[in-house]
Amino acid sequence: MPAQLTFAAPRRAKPPRHLADLSWDERREAVGALGEKPFRADQLSRHYFGRLADDPADMTDLPAPVRDRLVTELMPPLLTSVRDLTCDDGATRKTLWKAFDGTFVESVLMRYPDRVTMCVSSQAGCGMNCPFCATGQAGLTRNLSTAEIVEQVVAGARALDRGEISGGRGRVSNIVFMGMGEPLANFSTIVRAIHRFSDPSPRGLGISQRNITVSTVGLVPKIHQLADLDLKVRLAVSLHAPDDELRDELVPINTRWKVAEVLDAAWTYADRTRRRISIEYALIRDINDQAWRADLLGRLIKNHPVHVNLIPLNPTPGSKWTASRPSDQTEFVRRLEAHGVPVTVRDTRGQEIDGACGQLAAKTVE
Ligand code: SAH
Repeated sequence: MPAQLTFAAPRRAKPPRHLADLSWDERREAVGALGEKPFRADQLSRHYFGRLADDPADMTDLPAPVRDRLVTELMPPLLTSVRDLTCDDGATRKTLWKAFDGTFVESVLMRYPDRVTMCVSSQAGCGMNCPFCATGQAGLTRNLSTAEIVEQVVAGARALDRGEISGGRGRVSNIVFMGMGEPLANFSTIVRAIHRFSDPSPRGLGISQRNITVSTVGLVPKIHQLADLDLKVRLAVSLHAPDDELRDELVPINTRWKVAEVLDAAWTYADRTRRRISIEYALIRDINDQAWRADLLGRLIKNHPVHVNLIPLNPTPGSKWTASRPSDQTEFVRRLEAHGVPVTVRDTRGQEIDGACGQLAAKTVE
């Protein structure tokens, strides 16, 4: 495997423990260990997950000294918003966050007529080194904690609840692990985050697992592990090429797990969960957008429960590649459809604010 692929996150100080790191039982234990009655954990959960409270003064059912103690111990500030950028008339908002150790990550909120999607980061940086993705270029800084992932969604939910996003008050309906990082390289953490998102309120945020998508470069053993968990989350596979020769270059982890193995693992996942697989395919001009590649992809995936999401390549700094010509894109779609494969072309939400797929770099200076 090429040396630049990084699996193990560098050793760093751990983010402070937060309520959102803990399961319902662990929260009760933690509160008990602090010398308080376990039901106080339920009250805290109602404030955090149910009411999205961030001001301890609003937690009036907790006596002030208890509240101060529990908030200090279990709700430490984890992410500080450094900058919000909006576009699409305010319907897309990218937030740059600073973590306790000065690490930066980004999340993106996208409001559509029928849903609100939060795109979250699972790692600061990424170790997968895909050459067309801005996040990969700086390498992996560290894994995020469960609570650092949950906080990105809770912050979006608060903004919506307070009517700060254009379109009026609303709720987060969908979550995609398509921000910075490779979610399956931070496996147990993202699984815990999925539970926090989907457990009914006030254990969690009460967002259906069916509306949560985990996107991966194709870490085959982890796809199998995820399939074994019997979750209902959607799996998206960043394929980008149907042949190993090109995929070795575009998604370097392919040198470890080949196209056929990745697709096999995806079909197992679909079988186990009864959920259709999303294939992500960034269309790159004259690189992976040839008609013969569309046909090869079509042959590989037809007759499987699958849906292809074509993403016109978003520009990234220093990249020599660009999006496909419209005529090539149309032909690519046509060929896949001719194989009976459902296809959509993703809209490039957030491109002007470097908030679109593959553009998250958590740059602090523009
Ligand atoms: N590491 C995971 C999660 C990131 S999801 C994964 O790769 O699946 C981000 C998606 O955007 C991935 O499908 C990624 O391949 C794609 N992407 C990266 N750079 C892009 C770019 N410049 N233009 C369009 N899509 C890009």
